Amino acid sequence: MMSWTLGFEDGAGPRWMRGREATVFAEKGIGPCGRPVAWRTGPGPVAVAVSEESGRLQAGFDVGEALDVLLSERYRRPAKPITRLLPFHYHRVPGALRFRIGQLLSAGRRSRFPRWPIDPSGDALRWLSGRREVRWPGGKAFALVLTHDVDSAEGMARASRMFDIEAAAGLPAVYGFVTSTYEIDRGLARAVQALGGEIAWHSDLHDNRIAFEEDDAIRRRIEGARGFLEEFNVTGFRSPSLYRTPALFRVLAERFRWDSSVPDTGPGGGCASVVPFRLGRLLELPLSMPQDADLLFRRRSWQEIVEAWLEKVRYIREVGGLAVLNTHPEPHFSGSSAGLEAYGEFLVRVRELDPWIAVPRGMPMQRGEVA
Ligand SMILES: [Zn+2]
Repeated sequence: MMSWTLGFEDGAGPRWMRGREATVFAEKGIGPCGRPVAWRTGPGPVAVAVSEESGRLQAGFDVGEALDVLLSERYRRPAKPITRLLPFHYHRVPGALRFRIGQLLSAGRRSRFPRWPIDPSGDALRWLSGRREVRWPGGKAFALVLTHDVDSAEGMARASRMFDIEAAAGLPAVYGFVTSTYEIDRGLARAVQALGGEIAWHSDLHDNRIAFEEDDAIRRRIEGARGFLEEFNVTGFRSPSLYRTPALFRVLAERFRWDSSVPDTGPGGGCASVVPFRLGRLLELPLSMPQDADLLFRRRSWQEIVEAWLEKVRYIREVGGLAVLNTHPEPHFSGSSAGLEAYGEFLVRVRELDPWIAVPRGMPMQRGEVA
């Protein structure tokens, strides 16, 4: 699919686009006459892409369509995981070795789009389309959702340490459980809910396959988890390893209200937006913060990870978006002593930036208050 780069005229775009460029998947992009607002800066000759005439923006391309291409990730072909080819469940590879494999895969991954760790393309297009801000409750500038994917029995065993940190601060969080792999700590799940948190489904098996199955096979897997989904009033989903397809979202919408499997920028594509949006009937809460696993694979220290999280939060605050953080209580990720300490430090420092901290159930879009 054809793409080109868009940059704003000095002082014409949103403040958070200063020094940044957006990637636009659209034909042409040469705008009409008027005061320049944004430029097509390449490939090919530089030209005005958006101009303003009598207070109205005029674009040389279909802004709504270009935004939709990003939010639906239609620019990419969903990559099938290499773990599907293993003749056994990939979690049988020891965690430390899987970690090393993750590091190697991460080192080979360099993409022009989406840019990491910030790609403003979707939000720049949203701004151009006139949808400029979300009104968060309490007049807050941005929102924060804390999530944890509990991938394995080891993660389940350590999840309560993560919860203790949140409980001490009185912060609600989302815990996503894999339902056919380990014994779910129901006491912990109820404590999470009692603190105002939410339980989500992280599939029945962490086999990275659900996104690639036929509709009926996906339905059978959801049906198999029905007891859990009903017991904990589960309305949200995150796909194992973020593998996602249009078919998966279509079937999920039959049973779930929200999903958080689409990152804003990688791994495996991204919507390049830090603002929630509708994906068919689902409310999509883009996973807008770098995951603990990704940062560790990039060989960041825990102190660097805290700083990377805060840097991204400051950007999301400027945009007025939603920071969705996913930390894994697995011992080789955030469940280590150093990881838990870093998470605790992040919680203290992020609250100084005054976010609205909530769970998906309370999102204004969920209640129909914001389109
Ligand atoms: Zn997972």
